[in-house]
Amino acid sequence: MFTSIDKIASWAKDKGFIYPSSEIYGKLAGVYDYGYYGTLLKENIKNAWVKDMVQARKDIVLIDSAIFMHPTTWKASGHVDNFDDPQIDCKHCKARHRADILLEDYGINADKLPIDEINKIIADLKEKGTTIKCPICGSTELTPAKKFSLMVKSNLGAPTDVLSEDNVVYLRAETCQGIYLNYKNVLNSTRVAPPFGIAQVGKAFRNEIIARQFVFRTREFEQMEMQYFCHPDLVKEKYEEFKEYRMNWYKKYGIPSESLRYYKHLKLAHYASEAYDIEYKFNSLGDFKEIEGLHARGNWDLSQHTKFSGAKLDYLDPKTNERYTPNVVETSCGLNRVLLAFIDNAHKTENLEDGSTRDVLKIDTRLAPIKVAVFPLLKNKPDLVNKATQVYDILKEDFMTEFDDNGNIGKRYRRQDEIGTPFCVTVDFETLENEELKNTVTVRNRDTMKQERISIDALDKYLKDNLK
Ligand code: ATP
Repeated sequence: MFTSIDKIASWAKDKGFIYPSSEIYGKLAGVYDYGYYGTLLKENIKNAWVKDMVQARKDIVLIDSAIFMHPTTWKASGHVDNFDDPQIDCKHCKARHRADILLEDYGINADKLPIDEINKIIADLKEKGTTIKCPICGSTELTPAKKFSLMVKSNLGAPTDVLSEDNVVYLRAETCQGIYLNYKNVLNSTRVAPPFGIAQVGKAFRNEIIARQFVFRTREFEQMEMQYFCHPDLVKEKYEEFKEYRMNWYKKYGIPSESLRYYKHLKLAHYASEAYDIEYKFNSLGDFKEIEGLHARGNWDLSQHTKFSGAKLDYLDPKTNERYTPNVVETSCGLNRVLLAFIDNAHKTENLEDGSTRDVLKIDTRLAPIKVAVFPLLKNKPDLVNKATQVYDILKEDFMTEFDDNGNIGKRYRRQDEIGTPFCVTVDFETLENEELKNTVTVRNRDTMKQERISIDALDKYLKDNLK
């Protein structure tokens, strides 16, 4: 179990899951690269999400919209004017802070409060004898809170040295705007009609004031979002349905109920009429934290885009002849944050009967980066290595398989335990020579550590049956 975010970060780097970005140049704060196992894990989580949000549902389709969008998109959505966080600087050590997060340490929930109200809370606290401090250096010399825009700007097709408001394009701050802009295209080109959903997985960018919690909060990240378009009368029912559906998704993939809860937002974002978060209790952060947002967005986005573009984004129900602008129920989670939650939940240090310990990632087998590892018992016996290579060649067709002949067998088991590989297959002398056991191998289970002897011919079926 990870008891701090630094421990999980150093584990993730050591084991080939996540590396700090641009490390040889001293890192780029709030940006991370994914290593071999991290990339596979991220891919598996994404596929699990698409499976349950799209494949398993008649009423949801998938798109992949561009990161760059027409700049007016972000004016219409309210992001240019309203997508900001309250920033406070320490005059002493120059550290930057998010005022609402700073105030959490004083038992105050200032989430989404306007700047004036935040400054008033800080002044009231001072009057009552509590002066807020910089959590880095302890100084009480802090600036007043001010607005800090989270939008990341770039430019296209214009000189790169002038970033004026005329040529600015934004890196999208949420993937859902690409869904709204394609709402009509999807409606006109696929079989769906309200009530229906559009799902998307893709990168989003936010100029976060602070990004100190590893991949929990980064400036470049991936979102898995679904926008469900329905008649206003259906919103309540659909909101409740997705609230439960999404909670069950985390449980289905191994997060226990007691580590999950809902948090109801009282202060809402500019677009939302109802908002709950799904929170996970991170061992590494010592508390429940948001992993997914569930929002009833009304018809805010479609209406705004109609207002700014002139395009009609409504729906004429052929059965009732009613014309209306669909209301939206949104489910939105951060792929990287969810990946962090799955690692945080699955990592265990176990005491073994012989007095030793082992670190193991007991992650759902569907999410495990590598499904099976194949070992020759000894590296220096060509017959064993050849046979193990044959087994590897068979399995790699159907499973993400790793071949390992480094170190002794115990070390190889430990290495696979640490990255969460559900099964290890060992080719030993019995496989080659024993009359009865010829062409059988041992299969060792990550969770029980028990071994079974299985015929090589039956391996493929055994693994398919035992990998959920
Ligand atoms: P927070 O309050 O943590 O800043 P938010 O409420 O602004 O997040 P949303 O805009 O609702 O987040 O985004 C939906 C989801 O996207 C969040 O639940 C989270 O999983 C993910 N997410 C948002 N910002 C980041 C980020 N900077 N890094 C990683 N994931 C993020």
